[in-house]
Amino acid sequence: MNTPLLAGAKGANHALCGVCAREAMQIAYMPSNDFKRALWTCPECVKLLRDTYNMAPATLSEYESRALFAAAKKAAPDLIDAILTALWDKGVTDLSALSPETVDEIRENPPDEIKAAVTDALLTYAATMRAEIGSHNPPF
Ligand SMILES: [Zn+2]
Repeated sequence: MNTPLLAGAKGANHALCGVCAREAMQIAYMPSNDFKRALWTCPECVKLLRDTYNMAPATLSEYESRALFAAAKKAAPDLIDAILTALWDKGVTDLSALSPETVDEIRENPPDEIKAAVTDALLTYAATMRAEIGSHNPPF
């Protein structure tokens, strides 16, 4: 697995779970005793490591694509609403008049509603990854 979106290469990032990309703990799957090839995990994904260790890192797997779609679908309405509210709060009522400076202001200091929508997306991605991998359904 090792999603190119989040977790990255084995061994390189032991701060992120190699299954769901949430914060990892000090447990890894390392079948070859090669620390550089360890796949780190969070508490909820320990039992899924063996199933995900050899998933290709170069592209999104079917599981990852499903999880990403679920996360986007879940978060999109709240994210759109949060962005439009942030623009409105900055006096932007006409998107054709939106300035790069306003976009930069929001990007540099996103309001809590945007952070909540992104958090929701991350949690949905993680939960969907666990459910997909844990289901042992074929990834197609
Ligand atoms: Zn995890």
